[in-house]
Amino acid sequence: MRVVILAPVGRDAALLARTLSGLEIDTVVSQDAGVLMKMLAEGAGAAIIADEALTSSELSVLKIWLSSQPPWSDMPFVVLTSGGVPTRESHLRARELRALGNFTLIERPVRPDTVESSILAALRARMRQYEIRSRQEALVQANADLEQFAHSASHDLREPLRTIGIYSDLLARDYGNQLDERGNEFLNLIGRSVSRMDALLGDLLSYSHASSISGEEIEPTPSARALEAALKNLDGSILESNARISIAEMPTVRMRESHLSQIFQNLLGNAIKYRKEGEPPVIEISTRKSESHWIFTITDNGIGIPAAYKEAIFGIFQRLHTANKYSGTGMGLAICKRIVERYSGQIWVESEFGEGARFSFSVPS
Ligand code: ADP
Repeated sequence: MRVVILAPVGRDAALLARTLSGLEIDTVVSQDAGVLMKMLAEGAGAAIIADEALTSSELSVLKIWLSSQPPWSDMPFVVLTSGGVPTRESHLRARELRALGNFTLIERPVRPDTVESSILAALRARMRQYEIRSRQEALVQANADLEQFAHSASHDLREPLRTIGIYSDLLARDYGNQLDERGNEFLNLIGRSVSRMDALLGDLLSYSHASSISGEEIEPTPSARALEAALKNLDGSILESNARISIAEMPTVRMRESHLSQIFQNLLGNAIKYRKEGEPPVIEISTRKSESHWIFTITDNGIGIPAAYKEAIFGIFQRLHTANKYSGTGMGLAICKRIVERYSGQIWVESEFGEGARFSFSVPS
């Protein structure tokens, strides 16, 4: 890792040259900020700058360069300031530089030990940043591979499954009367398993789609519209269960309508599905503002969740019941969590077993 130097002259230049060559550090010297920026862009471990070498316009160029750096990068700068009582100008410049990033100020006259330790610390910090970058890149790649795998697996497995479904239907239709009761029951079981696996794969696909949500800036969306779409899809089960749903005033949020609607549909669908026997669901949707987020809370009067499972239910394929008792794939909450986290929000539940559940999630306002 080389060190880029901007304009120290005379005694400072000689001292830097001596110190850095003693440490066997590769250096390049530039006489103006334009060349410095070019050298930094080509890759550097640290930069040493004489503070009088930066005019205010050059400082602006440096500021722009710094703000365009990737998140892992925090280029260390060692700045040689004027010694003695600082002038007002150098005081202001020092303050401005400190606010810009990773700047260590060294007062002149410069001492070899101070230069040596500052440069070594700067290079060590830069080395760490490079390590973090390569680990981050490896993680991003591994994640992308996994996403791709989950997507292809769930997508491609549906095709042969469809064929199994079609042929077991044909078997039942054309040969059903040649089979005894047990044979027909087997066919029936195959049909039910095909439907279940299709639902599982469908949810796995939705989950993998939720991973590809990008961090782009979202225009304000009325949450009432997303809720309306979810309620429409739940129309049948609301009617059938005789559910009563009260709705607070709904704010505008920064989440795609389809994503918010999917969360509402999963949470409301659960509030209806996990109702107490013989008791119609009473559901309340409330909202409150918390700093940069809106928090939505869906409270139900259903069977509730045992304390030990409050985290686990957000994992993939996690269910607390058999499919015979309550239908489902165990993916609904995992999908909600994925979506909410992609928008840097959170989702959680409060519940007393047997006393209903309160699911809350936060969405950028
Ligand atoms: P699914 O409903 O398909 O099983 P979810 O991921 O939506 O999958 O929910 C996971 C589990 O969390 C459910 O199986 C259920 O046991 C529990 N659960 C979710 N919502 C509620 C609720 N409102 N009341 C009680 N239990 C719930």
